[in-house]
Amino acid sequence: MGFDIARIYLGVNKGWIVNQCAEKLLAWYDHHYRPLPWRQKINIYHTWVCEVMSQQTTLAVVVPKFSEFVKHLPTVDDLATCDEEILRQLWSGLGYYARARNLKKGAKFIVEQLEGHFPQSYYEWLKIPGCGPYTASVIASICFNEKVACVDGNVVRVVSRLLALSEDVWSSSGKSAIQTHVDQMIPEERPGDFNQAIMELGATVCRKSKPLCLLCPIREQCLAFAHNCVEICPPKKPRRDTVDVELFALVFWRKATDTVAIAKRCCFQQNAHRTKGFLSNTVGFPLVTATEASEVKKVLQSLEHLQFLELSSKFSHSITHHRISGRVFIAQELENPSITTESVIWEKLGLPKSFDWIPRSVLASKLSTALDNKVFKLFENYILG
Ligand code: SF4
Repeated sequence: MGFDIARIYLGVNKGWIVNQCAEKLLAWYDHHYRPLPWRQKINIYHTWVCEVMSQQTTLAVVVPKFSEFVKHLPTVDDLATCDEEILRQLWSGLGYYARARNLKKGAKFIVEQLEGHFPQSYYEWLKIPGCGPYTASVIASICFNEKVACVDGNVVRVVSRLLALSEDVWSSSGKSAIQTHVDQMIPEERPGDFNQAIMELGATVCRKSKPLCLLCPIREQCLAFAHNCVEICPPKKPRRDTVDVELFALVFWRKATDTVAIAKRCCFQQNAHRTKGFLSNTVGFPLVTATEASEVKKVLQSLEHLQFLELSSKFSHSITHHRISGRVFIAQELENPSITTESVIWEKLGLPKSFDWIPRSVLASKLSTALDNKVFKLFENYILG
């Protein structure tokens, strides 16, 4: 109902609405911006790192991790040459480790191909491996004052409410319509501050639920507020159906040295039905699917130098739309560690030879995913009785 009125109103006044907003948003931002560590002084490297960290992770988690990250890796050269293990530890807790790998790939490209000089424009940033339009627009607008609009989830919400858009703003055509509106809104002066202002408004005032409209600097321009349709704007994101998955984590334990085997998971995908896609390229316990678990169990039970145990406790975990029900197999090595468990396992299960045997006392610090931490907790409960 409200949307029909809004469309008529929009047809006449869209330009006016859009023009009015930039100035108000900037004035509001000047007084209400959150003093985040990367906002103290413009630094290209810091802007890049914090933007990548902030994608899909909350600021409460990002802020302390960011400070630790740039303390240990203060320059792009440090990031390009850092040890994978250190990077993993610095990223631990932020999730989606692929982002850290891409960041390092980008840093290597800058150091090796651009002699350590950062790109100086939106289009040049797009050439950096792992850098998409969103990250490029954040860096270009904040660090080089380039007039390129950033569109993230917060911006989609603010603009769709401001203009009372009823269409599916989450589809690629919907997002490109939002991009067009923000492109019209972004001012010549202070484009970086404008981008931060509209994102900040979405994060702190025009929130997903219970938006604080009475505190909003663009309330007078907001069509959703005027027509009382804030609650239904924007339309909800279409949800992907949840898929239930059963996974089995393999914990190889050398009791004599109290060490546990972990390895890079991409190596486990030798077989087509391996746990393809789940936490690949992260370091942790081998994972097998329910389809292959009974075969793996049979093999582990048949190995004389191993004692096999299936824990009765389970763990649950979610990765995107996958709801994981997890079990833990423990394979305890009984004989002298000089017997190469790896080669036996390699032959029998097709798992990699290159396990790292890590002392149990420091294992928690080596695990980078929440799933591995859950597995480790169950294993520890078993050991400690
Ligand atoms: S008035 Fe309310 S709905 Fe409109 S932009 Fe402001 S916070 Fe969002």
